[in-house]
Amino acid sequence: MTTAPATRTSAPRSSSAPCSPAFCSVVPPHLLDRLSRAADPLIAAAARRTLVTDAANRTARRLTTVAGAAPVPSPDDGATAGAPRRTIYDAEHKTALPGRKVREEGGQPTGDATVNRAYAGLGATFELFRDAYERDSINGSGLPLDATVHYSREYNNAFWNGEQMVFGDGDGRIFLDFTLAVDVIGHELAHGVTQYTANLAYFGQPGALNESMSDVFGSLVKQYALKQTAEQADWLIGAGLLAKDVQGVALRSMKAPGTAYDDDVLGKDPQPATMDDYVHTGADNGGVHINSGIPNHAFYLVATRLGGNAWERAGRIWYDVLTGGELAVDAEFADFAKLTVAAASERYGAGGAEHDAVTKAWSTVGVPTE
Ligand SMILES: [Zn+2]
Repeated sequence: MTTAPATRTSAPRSSSAPCSPAFCSVVPPHLLDRLSRAADPLIAAAARRTLVTDAANRTARRLTTVAGAAPVPSPDDGATAGAPRRTIYDAEHKTALPGRKVREEGGQPTGDATVNRAYAGLGATFELFRDAYERDSINGSGLPLDATVHYSREYNNAFWNGEQMVFGDGDGRIFLDFTLAVDVIGHELAHGVTQYTANLAYFGQPGALNESMSDVFGSLVKQYALKQTAEQADWLIGAGLLAKDVQGVALRSMKAPGTAYDDDVLGKDPQPATMDDYVHTGADNGGVHINSGIPNHAFYLVATRLGGNAWERAGRIWYDVLTGGELAVDAEFADFAKLTVAAASERYGAGGAEHDAVTKAWSTVGVPTE
């Protein structure tokens, strides 16, 4: 398989909304459900408000789907090719989007660190896709990147709604400001890349692949920004987001799925690392944020076996499959695994270390490749 030129992926392949019928949030509903039953009334109230807001946003996305696809942006309307076009808005603790414009491309930093982190995070994501994969923004043709910060009050989530990023401030007891983790910003924007390319369904295994793609490229955004090798990276998603009294280090761990947190209030990280522990559930859209641990761990194994910069060979193979046109909307783990083996051979040779690393990684997590 060869990499499609950037222009080939410049329009959505289908008219459905991203992650339809859900919207793409970083904190999964099963976790907020648990928090809404917490003994601490303040924690429970913040979680309940977040769930209500998320449900309203999910409905809004469904209405957009019914009404038609999100508008396709016209490419190159006066834009500089290869440069981001970022705009940051402040919701001022309300839920109307996008809110008040507070920083535009090329503008000076503001006095608000949240605004500046969102601006930098959008830039870091743009740079990974441009520098490592020659992709011009998330749609491949210069899509402007918009983000809203200070969304709602004590809002415990961040999401991509098909058109823009939205960040809450967290409740301060469980979650902190969602702009603190650059990989979370990368995760959400990667949902946009998936939307414009393979458009993986958001349920069951294709949904878990959709989530995993966002964790993979989210982690790579952080690694590229920090210039970390696979060995140096923490392989965590959402490090720095948990408040200090929470027993945990992040939302998810690609290195050791199931170990990111184990807390009285938050519960235990439910992610499996291999197919032996695959979770069959109707919750969380069929476990999209849970079973994503399996392909996440496969990517970690490929990247660390190859060594060096994970965005180069391991990331390139995953990107080739995501954008190559052969990954079906309803692909299961084994379909994806086979395509990564083929992509590794195509780009690096059938007898190469890359092919070997990919084959061994899927075998370790229990996903067949032939
Ligand atoms: Zn996600």
